[in-house]
Amino acid sequence: MNTPLPPVRATIALGAATILWDCIVVGAGPAGAATSLRLAREGKRVLLVDRGCMPRGKVCGCCLSPEAVVELGRLRLPLLRRASIPLDTLALSSGGRTARIAFRGGEVLSRETLDTELVVAGVAGGVAWVPGVDVVAVVAPQEGPVRVTLRSVADGTVATIEADRCVLATGLVDRVRGKARDRATEDRRGVRAAGKRCVIGVGTTLPADAVDLDHGELRMTVGRQGYCGLVRLEDGRIDVAAAIDRAALREGRGVADVLLAVLGPTSAAVGPHLADALRSARLTATPALTRRAPLSSDGGRILRVGDAAAYVEPFTGEGIGWALASARIAADAILAGASGGGVGDAYARAHDRHFVVPHARCRRVVSWLQNPALVTAAVASSRIAPGLAARIVSLVTGAGGRGARL
Ligand SMILES: Cc1cc2nc3c(=O)[nH]c(=O)nc-3n(C[C@H](O)[C@H](O)[C@H](O)COP(=O)(O)OP(=O)(O)OC[C@H]3O[C@@H](n4cnc5c(N)ncnc54)[C@H](O)[C@@H]3O)c2cc1C
Repeated sequence: MNTPLPPVRATIALGAATILWDCIVVGAGPAGAATSLRLAREGKRVLLVDRGCMPRGKVCGCCLSPEAVVELGRLRLPLLRRASIPLDTLALSSGGRTARIAFRGGEVLSRETLDTELVVAGVAGGVAWVPGVDVVAVVAPQEGPVRVTLRSVADGTVATIEADRCVLATGLVDRVRGKARDRATEDRRGVRAAGKRCVIGVGTTLPADAVDLDHGELRMTVGRQGYCGLVRLEDGRIDVAAAIDRAALREGRGVADVLLAVLGPTSAAVGPHLADALRSARLTATPALTRRAPLSSDGGRILRVGDAAAYVEPFTGEGIGWALASARIAADAILAGASGGGVGDAYARAHDRHFVVPHARCRRVVSWLQNPALVTAAVASSRIAPGLAARIVSLVTGAGGRGARL
């Protein structure tokens, strides 16, 4: 077991943060932390704020895609390289059948460690960090700097802080008020891909002995009500992350029972304790798993990165890599220094170039998952057809994955 990470203390008091910043970054998940780190390393005065404190967990499968691993490498973070565990097997189950497929290029890391180490690296690189503040409004007047209004979660103190630019990295749960045109909307393409279903995320972590599962194995089960991933984290705990059809919850069952229905025979296959562990765990849910918002507004003075910009369902486990890539693209656009709307346009163009193809692939996978019989057939065939196993891995993980039947 690793020692728990210590809290990352504020580097500046809220009251002392009222200088004119080059950039205020709202949200310290991978997108916000990486954006602020990149800008601060290039000498920008950056304030990073989050309503939470680090370390903190998040509903997430904790799998780093091959792209995430490459993006983290670009950030030069040696501590993370030592903490993460290589993924070597995807065990994909559906309809009571399981295909075990070799998988290379991905890693596993808890969100407590990943997000905390990114913030620690940012602070070391010169980022000013204020945890425990909720950003309640971001306004960009015609003239003058962007104004960001923050409220202390602990005592309700309110402060308005100014910056040349604001990057919103607030994730899927984005409640920052602003101008009407800056509001996020549900991603209609995602909703269409998911048919009439509304899918929400659910997650928890379980004690190390809740499940028999080797380090490096991702156990993914697809059922009628959604899909669920189990993986062992670097400290031994089991991460559980699922996307489930909200309608299944309306049938009167609790979240744990819906998860157990999705897992079906997998539950027994991973040992006798999973059901009890899930029923006594604290399960956290997310809002609907599709959204899309303007990448840039107010003449490029407000940018969105990570899930706050665009989100598609998490089956392919690429959200962290995409968050880190969008942070790099946004930071590059800001550092290239085009004035006003130029930054927003440059960011939006580069973002579209990078994401159109992988987002479309992810939507195809999501539509495929609507038909569990098809998934079961693919799992059954991949047990005898190594080419199909490789194809499944590259489809669900992106071009970087390499798969073969075990
Ligand atoms: C069930 C599930 C499983 C997943 N599995 C994987 C996986 O295995 N691999 C993978 O790569 N991706 C996975 N994802 C996706 C991944 O979790 C996200 O894509 C990733 O966290 C996006 O990072 P982010 O920085 O954009 O947002 P987040 O990580 O959500 O960070 C947003 C931050 O903003 C803060 N914040 C929000 N609003 C405010 C406010 N008003 N004021 C101050 N702070 C605010 C929040 O406190 C939070 O810290 C999964 C998602 C789900 C739901």
